[in-house]
Amino acid sequence: MKIAIIGGGAAGVMAAAAAYETDPSAEILILERNDLLGKKVLISGGGRCNLTTGLRDIRTVLSRYPRGDKFLTKAMHKFPPEAVYAWFESHGVPLKIEKDMRVFPMSNNGEDVMNVFKNLFKTAGVRVMLKKQVTEVRKTKDGFAISLKNQDSPLLVDKIILTTGGQAYRQTGSTGDGYTFAQSLGHAITALAPSLSALFTQEKWVADLAGVSVENAALHCHPERNEVKSKDLYNQKGPSASSGRQAVQGPFIFTHKGISGPAVFALSSLVAFEQLTPTNPLTISIDFFPDRKLAEVLEGIWFHVTKYPKKSLGKVIGAMVLKSIAPRLCLAAGLNPDSIAADCSKKNAERLAQTMKGLVLHAVARAAGDEFVTAGGVDLKEVDPSTMQSKICPGLYLAGEILDIDGFTGGFNLQSAWATGRLAGESAVSI
Ligand SMILES: Cc1cc2nc3c(=O)[nH]c(=O)nc-3n(C[C@H](O)[C@H](O)[C@H](O)COP(=O)(O)OP(=O)(O)OC[C@H]3O[C@@H](n4cnc5c(N)ncnc54)[C@H](O)[C@@H]3O)c2cc1C
Repeated sequence: MKIAIIGGGAAGVMAAAAAYETDPSAEILILERNDLLGKKVLISGGGRCNLTTGLRDIRTVLSRYPRGDKFLTKAMHKFPPEAVYAWFESHGVPLKIEKDMRVFPMSNNGEDVMNVFKNLFKTAGVRVMLKKQVTEVRKTKDGFAISLKNQDSPLLVDKIILTTGGQAYRQTGSTGDGYTFAQSLGHAITALAPSLSALFTQEKWVADLAGVSVENAALHCHPERNEVKSKDLYNQKGPSASSGRQAVQGPFIFTHKGISGPAVFALSSLVAFEQLTPTNPLTISIDFFPDRKLAEVLEGIWFHVTKYPKKSLGKVIGAMVLKSIAPRLCLAAGLNPDSIAADCSKKNAERLAQTMKGLVLHAVARAAGDEFVTAGGVDLKEVDPSTMQSKICPGLYLAGEILDIDGFTGGFNLQSAWATGRLAGESAVSI
């Protein structure tokens, strides 16, 4: 049996490894347009490759996928994060789990991850065909015909595993070609949108705080406008303090034009299909004390104000939040950060507490072109979650980001590529 894997990214190489490990006699080809495998894997995690998560409870892991969680259940049970961890270690890559539960190679070098496949394919019966850009895929009577750029005769195979990825970071080769191939084989593609991106804000003052990072905050977005689910990035706690509203919780950073970082990426993922424009901005409020009630924050302010009445209000507040952020919070509350603390009335302290529990920003755009993943993809109703085989076109298997699955940052997107890729590879040689 001849199986062609179109796209040698994370899902494609794992599908090839799984197909070989399941049936070493199968003839497996990887067609990759680049001159190397896994270009995106190599740049992932800033070159360190956050290849999966250290979380072990599958339900918790699945809660990190705003889209595709139900579909992923079977693949995830078959190849959960701990199995991914064990698989890479057994193939010679020692791993580590960091404080925030992200998993990296001990070496901090993403190349080690791709070297596993390079070495495996050298000895295994997997033929890696680089610089092979697929231009068309057709169903034939017995299998599939694959047309390649600058090649006259099509390649004939029995089965196809389509792993061309999404269309984020197009310079890595993932340009969305696979959507056209899937469509030509009868599949529907859902609406596509960038996900996991930084946000630009209407408030220009953010530039003054560029580079300042906050370890833990809850970001809420306007509930009437966005129907989003609450997600807590690292903890298993429910929505944060000002509950009842929609929130994500985790670290974030101010940038020259807005906000970025894990909590912002998660929020951007939840509102991936929302329009963000200067005339229709997304209202975000930032709770700097997600684990404290408003009354407790007010008590804290009052304690500091009365303890240091001669200091400036900005300085006094700087004892509660980062020094660089304190003056901005005072200004947002309509107070002068240079005024002396003694002049701060109870009413003003209340305003300040409210601002600390809900600094309002307006997101007017996503940082274009630097999103990490594409939300949307091949309609999951048309794919069998137990095998990854198409329900529309027998012999076609799909895996990875081409599917309508996307997760938060933290190793969840690669985890889903490994899990669906593995299942597709195993199924393609078994069914
Ligand atoms: C900057 C960045 C950092 C990231 N960091 C992380 C991280 O640390 N952890 C994490 O979990 N996720 C991360 N992600 C997301 C993750 O890398 C992707 O979700 C994952 O690589 C998707 O795997 P895939 O195999 O489906 O697609 P891809 O890895 O995109 O692979 C698709 C492959 O198909 C090839 N291809 C496409 N069209 C054709 C064609 N016509 N002919 C031949 N070949 C073709 C492409 O060249 C590519 O090699 C990051 C993404 C980016 C952009």
